[in-house]
Amino acid sequence: MQKSSYLTLTALCLGLPFTAAFSLAANPTTLADFQALAAKSNSQLVLPTYPLTPADIKAQAENAIKNADAAFDALAAQDPKTLNFDNTFAAADAIGAKVVDVALVLGTVAESSTDKTMRDTANDMGVKLQEWSVSLDYREPLYRALKAVADTHPKLDAEQQRLMDFQMRSYRRAGLSLSAPDRADVERLRKDLAGLNTQFAVNINEARAPLDFTAEELVGVPQSFLDSPGVRQPDGRYRVMANITWHAQAIGENADNAEVRRKVATARSNLAKETNTAVLSKLVALRADIAHRLGYANWADYQTETRMAKNGATAVKFEEDLVAGLQPKFAEEMETLRQLKAAQTGKPDAKLEAWDISYYTNKLKKEKYAVDVEALRAYFPYQATLNGMFAIYQRIFGLKFTEVEAPYVWFPGVKLYVVQDKATGTPMGAFYLDMFPREGKFNHFACFSQKAGGVMADGRYDLPVAALLCNFPAPSADKPSLLKHADVETLFHEFGHVMHGMLARSRYAGQGAFSVPQDFVEAPSQMLENWVWDKSVLDTFAGDYRDPSKKLPAETIASLVAARQATEGIGERRQLSIGLLDLNLHTLSADDAWLADVVKIVNDTTARVSVAPPANTFWAAYIGHLAGYDAAYYGYLWAKVMAIDMASVFKASPNGFLDETVGMRLRNEVYGKGDTRDVGESVEKFLGRPRSMQPFLEYVGIKKQ
Ligand SMILES: [Zn+2]
Repeated sequence: MQKSSYLTLTALCLGLPFTAAFSLAANPTTLADFQALAAKSNSQLVLPTYPLTPADIKAQAENAIKNADAAFDALAAQDPKTLNFDNTFAAADAIGAKVVDVALVLGTVAESSTDKTMRDTANDMGVKLQEWSVSLDYREPLYRALKAVADTHPKLDAEQQRLMDFQMRSYRRAGLSLSAPDRADVERLRKDLAGLNTQFAVNINEARAPLDFTAEELVGVPQSFLDSPGVRQPDGRYRVMANITWHAQAIGENADNAEVRRKVATARSNLAKETNTAVLSKLVALRADIAHRLGYANWADYQTETRMAKNGATAVKFEEDLVAGLQPKFAEEMETLRQLKAAQTGKPDAKLEAWDISYYTNKLKKEKYAVDVEALRAYFPYQATLNGMFAIYQRIFGLKFTEVEAPYVWFPGVKLYVVQDKATGTPMGAFYLDMFPREGKFNHFACFSQKAGGVMADGRYDLPVAALLCNFPAPSADKPSLLKHADVETLFHEFGHVMHGMLARSRYAGQGAFSVPQDFVEAPSQMLENWVWDKSVLDTFAGDYRDPSKKLPAETIASLVAARQATEGIGERRQLSIGLLDLNLHTLSADDAWLADVVKIVNDTTARVSVAPPANTFWAAYIGHLAGYDAAYYGYLWAKVMAIDMASVFKASPNGFLDETVGMRLRNEVYGKGDTRDVGESVEKFLGRPRSMQPFLEYVGIKKQ
């Protein structure tokens, strides 16, 4: 249907006199107008086809696999003499992209459909597509065809070279360059690894730690916790489940009795210790062994090879530099908390323990940095906030958004917008907004790519489509939807992913916005979080919904910043302790890994970087990231430090966060490039200097020396 309306309109336009066609393009209002305009700029704007029944879902997935299988077989069966870059690497990229587009649509159905059967079917088919994509690495004939071309060292431009190198690297990482018996060994070890990863996660899910306390022991804990379902026991005591995060937090932040806090913290740090200590030891050894067999010094080198860090040593150095940089702030914050403890206990030499940190942090924030976050909602009515954010992003990136009527939406109220380049009017892509909660819908906030952009065989550009799935509070009878400041920050972040998707232009699908390295992909969005802490940005849209001329007072924003910074050093050092224990476990050589005392490595690292864990515990047994996100945790801070570094360029520019010149440079050098070149190069081209952690240290509250 979408296709035919597009064709009809193109035909119509061709029949129109030039001036009429021009005026249509100058002021497009409908999807069809934009599709016609796209056609004039050598591109096409085609929305994904959304399945309407479980049978549609199955058919889409099965057809995608069938068509791709046939295309890959045909690719591999070509006469070896005719093989070149275009009919191997470029062709494989295009074949794979079609399957990815189907997976994206089904992923959205799984998270947004109101029908459980639709969601379940989409999930099942998603798993099938995932398994199929893994099996691609092991298609021998395809590998041989690609390798034959790579071995001729064809003369290529930089993007082609990158596509070829990355594809061959992915085969090498899968073990295809090994001899058959060696490869069989690696495949067997990988299966063991997958099993152990699952076991680690299952043990975490199954870990339980109930602790019962009397009302007297729980003095300080909010009544709302004591009244929560399942907490009060028949014997009158209260049950705290140390494995439930909000239970552990309620005690850790509020219980005045230090012994109660110690018991809960100890129980939490011992979750899955009995089962997962051995599993983690085996995981560490097995990963090191696989890395060694594939030609890497350690697992961190293997994992980071495809990321910005590129090797384990660089990731470790980054984390250690940050540990050192944060030291003055960390020490100062620890001393502030220690003094609170000394005052409360009457012991001047009181020592701060692991179970004191949340408690005294909470006390400090309540006593010194109280901000009524609920009252701030009045300044952020949903529609004004959305419009305000749109205005800012349109301004800094040089864009225009127009809402159009969608031919199909998966739920009433979902909206569709077309993005144009403001200077030329060229359509850039389209995005859906699905912003309020409902039964069965994904319950966080995220950008879901619906379709990657890319050059088609006929040379036209197939424009990208994205969707935001959010859960903002629904409006009530007497009030509009009012957002928390944290929600506004989330909105700026998630919409940043949409912008990345709309702006990236790559010839090959595998080099688009969401193909950038894992330790970079969040950075452009994290950067945009900085906007909502700036008075001049907030003044463009935030105002009391009862009287929009009432702006957010500067002191309130300053208090929000002060509250965030109060214990940010402690918070970041805790993140660094996880990042470093992860790297310390995964930079062991294969020989060392078998003998490693994982408990000692974890506890020593934690004590050095953060706060010593409770005695005889092993908190890493309950860190789910260590199975599936292994040698990757450093990436959170890696991206955050870079994000704040990038934001500092706006901050220092004439128009601050609204500066259009800096915005266009960001668009051209970072967002627009996608993964067509090394992202480290893109970031430095935008910064105009090497990367620095100084802006991050200032953000944390460390004044420039
Ligand atoms: Zn994100």
